[in-house]
Amino acid sequence: MSDMVQVTGLKKTYDGGGRRVEAIGNITFTVPRSQFACIVGPSGAGKTTLLKCLAGLLEPTSGEIRIEGSPVTGPPPGMAVVFQEYGRSLFPWKTVQQNVELPLRVKGTAKDVRRQQVSEALAAVGLDDAGDAYPWQLSGGMQQRVAIARAIAYQPHVLLMDEPFAAVDAQTRADLEDLVRSLWRTLGITTLFVTHDVDEAVYLGERVLVLSASPTLILDDIAVDLPAERDQVDTRSSASFAALRARVHHGIQAAKAGKRKLEVPV
Ligand code: ADP
Repeated sequence: MSDMVQVTGLKKTYDGGGRRVEAIGNITFTVPRSQFACIVGPSGAGKTTLLKCLAGLLEPTSGEIRIEGSPVTGPPPGMAVVFQEYGRSLFPWKTVQQNVELPLRVKGTAKDVRRQQVSEALAAVGLDDAGDAYPWQLSGGMQQRVAIARAIAYQPHVLLMDEPFAAVDAQTRADLEDLVRSLWRTLGITTLFVTHDVDEAVYLGERVLVLSASPTLILDDIAVDLPAERDQVDTRSSASFAALRARVHHGIQAAKAGKRKLEVPV
């Protein structure tokens, strides 16, 4: 498998107003094509900084990021991003269909292909009937489905998700988790999913990267060897799920205590 994402010696220091914050200390990792990798870490661990660097929105202080082999110098062409704040990421004056279609227009996709991709994406997230609605007429969970539809209609090679379900209720969150996993299994898009929810990371991912507190290092890199077919009740109550969750918690506790490496590797 070729590596879709390569992060080498990434370092990011914020410098401004006479204040220096060493946000990312030194991060190196690769994500193979089609992998679903979750990134967890305590608040202030540099998760958003890392994603902004990956998305080409923030320039690293040193080190290099490559997506599909090309160095990132601006937003990579094959990437889509879904943020937590779906309310702000959708245009209220555009219909659902127009919102999903927008990146395809920007990309220059022909009109009939665009229409086809938009309707397929809306069907994939269970919103076939909502194309003519406006985002503000929909619930939070439905708005986040629109944001997901917009991301997949674009047919990205890499999908970044930054705490996308943090603002929805527990049941909607479970539904959206299952939606994202099933879309990933169907489409095989390389996915980097940032969350501070340990259970969500283990439930969704094939791999969990645990970040230290700033200046960020990778404290642990865990292969999630759960069966691909997952279920909110059965998977979450299995012994292997509990063992993985315990290991991730162990890493987060160490991160919160300011540890730079795990004393007792699990
Ligand atoms: P997380 O997303 O894990 O909560 P962030 O990437 O937002 O972490 O922040 C990592 C560190 O960088 C924190 O110490 C934060 O205060 C600092 N930081 C983030 N953005 C800026 C900025 N624009 N200027 C200065 N410091 C920043």
